[in-house]
Amino acid sequence: MKSKYDAVIVGAGIIGCCVAFELAKKGCQTLNVDKLPAAGHGSTANSCAIIRLHYSTPDGVAMAREGYYYWKNWEQYLEATDSNGLAAYINTGSLVTKTPRNKYLRNVMVSLSELEIEYEELDARAVKRRFPFLDVSKYGPPKLATESGFGQPTGGSIEGAIYVPESGYINDPILSTRNVQAAAEAKGADFRFNAQVVGIVKQNGRSAGILLKDGSRIEAPVVINVAGPHSFIINRMAGVDQGMNIKTRALRQEVAHVPAPEGLDYQKAGMLVSDGDIGCYSRPEVGNHVLIGSEDPDCDTLEWIDDPDNYNTNFTDQWRTQVMREAQRIINLPVPNDRQGVVDLYDCSDDWLPIYDKSDLPGFYMAVGTSGNQYKNAPVAGALMAELIEKVEAGHDHDRDPLTYQLKYIDRFLNLGSFSRLRAINRDSSFSVIG
Ligand SMILES: Cc1cc2nc3c(=O)[nH]c(=O)nc-3n(C[C@H](O)[C@H](O)[C@H](O)COP(=O)(O)OP(=O)(O)OC[C@H]3O[C@@H](n4cnc5c(N)ncnc54)[C@H](O)[C@@H]3O)c2cc1C
Repeated sequence: MKSKYDAVIVGAGIIGCCVAFELAKKGCQTLNVDKLPAAGHGSTANSCAIIRLHYSTPDGVAMAREGYYYWKNWEQYLEATDSNGLAAYINTGSLVTKTPRNKYLRNVMVSLSELEIEYEELDARAVKRRFPFLDVSKYGPPKLATESGFGQPTGGSIEGAIYVPESGYINDPILSTRNVQAAAEAKGADFRFNAQVVGIVKQNGRSAGILLKDGSRIEAPVVINVAGPHSFIINRMAGVDQGMNIKTRALRQEVAHVPAPEGLDYQKAGMLVSDGDIGCYSRPEVGNHVLIGSEDPDCDTLEWIDDPDNYNTNFTDQWRTQVMREAQRIINLPVPNDRQGVVDLYDCSDDWLPIYDKSDLPGFYMAVGTSGNQYKNAPVAGALMAELIEKVEAGHDHDRDPLTYQLKYIDRFLNLGSFSRLRAINRDSSFSVIG
């Protein structure tokens, strides 16, 4: 394998692979390096892979809308087939409950309308009519399972919800990553697995490559940190973390898989439910299961992880709390003793919005801080990162004069300054996985 490239990408998760694909399409000789044995085996592997359009900020909605089209046109995006088969988008629709914390979805509805994204406003009775397997009582604000009144309705019904027909999930996030790897390889990209980056090489005041654990060195004028929950370690290695206003940390998460209520075909009847009233999101999962993640309600203590290679990968009481919260909404949802699901880490930024940016070290870039909500946006992130890198390497001062990126499917420009490491905390964020 060569030891000199135009760009080295640290990480071969879904975003690292999309960055490689887009750079390779521009004629750049890229190498992705990953310490794991194959693409998509990091946090992407355990992604719930939900493709939804509701985000708290207008840019968040626009990016998700753009990403949606990439997934819908997956084969066209890849420009190739893959002998492993292609990942598939499963449409389920999504139901999002109105809560005080999400400002009754007022801003979300404005952003959806602005992009002509179809949605319906439903009051609690309409939700019940359409989804009779849901209990529409109000349970919020979410509580700890140890608090008195847990699981008891707090009076009346939910404030209502919106239903967005275009939402769903990708059936196999690892396969989707493998698809993008194959697409990138078809454009000349290289991948090296079981190779851990232990240093960022600098020369003449800019990045000049990487150092691997086996002592070998790979030269490249451009290095891109797409290391997921390890991103803060790679930024530290490059010495760029102190120059960031928004930083990233690893956040532990549990996702539960439980059987659907007896007699309910959840694969058919179920949809994505984003439910701040109970503090959970959920979607149908194979085997007539319900997948349940946390929307990180205020009452829960967030479990920040100092060492992403050493954390508790077993389920804790949080698993049962999430299932019991979901059982408030889905009538007769079982709370089994046999705990199934996943435990993994988000690469969480201070305002739960991603950082797609350069750094203070010329030639060193980052696509990090994906905060549990950027799988869906990976193809867009790949495309905008490739353009940002191309323009900054050609001399553009992105910090002083932030670039804009023209989305391909929707008629809109994204101000890439909103993904800057130097931005002020974005107060429009949900400060949760919703972004
Ligand atoms: C439980 C969970 C559920 C989620 N659900 C959703 C969802 O429903 N929808 C959504 O849009 N997003 C979701 N996300 C977020 C989404 O999965 C991530 O944003 C996305 O997968 C990140 O991709 P990535 O390529 O940046 O990182 P990763 O997939 O984590 O890849 C980073 C890679 O870098 C490698 N690496 C790290 N350090 C080094 C080193 N020193 N040397 C070499 N390699 C290194 C790792 O091995 C890893 O493979 C979820 C995340 C989690 C954890």
